[in-house]
Amino acid sequence: MNSAPTGEPQAAGSRDTSTAPIARARGLVKTYGAGETAVQALAGIDVDLGRGQLTAIMGPSGSGKSTLMHCLAGLDRPTAGSIEVDGEEVGQMNERQLTKLRRTRLGFIFQAFNLVPTLTAAENITLPLDIARKPVDRAHFDAVIDAVGLRDRLSHKPGELSGGQQQRVACARALVSRPAVVFADEPTGNLDSTSAAEVLGFLRRSVDELGQSVVMVTHDPTAASYAHRVLFLADGRLVAELADPTPATVLETLGAITARTRESAPAAL
Ligand code: ADP
Repeated sequence: MNSAPTGEPQAAGSRDTSTAPIARARGLVKTYGAGETAVQALAGIDVDLGRGQLTAIMGPSGSGKSTLMHCLAGLDRPTAGSIEVDGEEVGQMNERQLTKLRRTRLGFIFQAFNLVPTLTAAENITLPLDIARKPVDRAHFDAVIDAVGLRDRLSHKPGELSGGQQQRVACARALVSRPAVVFADEPTGNLDSTSAAEVLGFLRRSVDELGQSVVMVTHDPTAASYAHRVLFLADGRLVAELADPTPATVLETLGAITARTRESAPAAL
């Protein structure tokens, strides 16, 4: 399950979907603006993200984490390079195709829960399926609800739930449609450490027990330590990675990267 993807391209029709990476970027460049004010947020990223893995993306502020995630999730368009998600070329899609991809194949978890306040937890969880007019798989719904421990909170509205419970609703909402991959953008940024641990534990279990693929942007070494693999960005480049991280190894790697960035660009600080 957790073996590293080979990264080898395979002929169409012979793709082994059980081991092919869930997302792949090649030569990914993103430049914002033009001329003298242009900012190169991504400076050429080549990466394969493992299927059935929790991958964390870390790096100093402004290193390109959000841009990478947004490009992978079809929320932003790359300036150059290719992106494949679950075997589909995302970079070539038009807006309609991107919207369909996001609705039907991807799940999202944001720092600010983004729940609808007038709907119950259960209604929030099934909302994306209802919008897509897809039936709710009750057995999977039950498995997800039990995994996040929300069974006795289903009729509550977000205002009646704690921050941690609201984020667990958001996790369940992202998972209930069995998306190819869940993108989580600082999912624990608004949570206390106990609630953060619950949400992270759940995200990891969704990978280990439900076979979900999850990509998470975080600046928190403890959060990153729940991942199978951590990718480190600096100045729009992939500069390091760790397998089976601990908070200490993540912190150490982050420290080395920050020191190197300072050495190479003292004027920028
Ligand atoms: P991170 O998530 O690691 O903090 P970002 O991906 O948000 O980094 O940003 C990378 C770089 O791109 C930063 O220099 C940032 O200022 C710039 N950037 C991000 N989004 C935009 C945008 N919409 N317009 C202009 N510059 C942007």
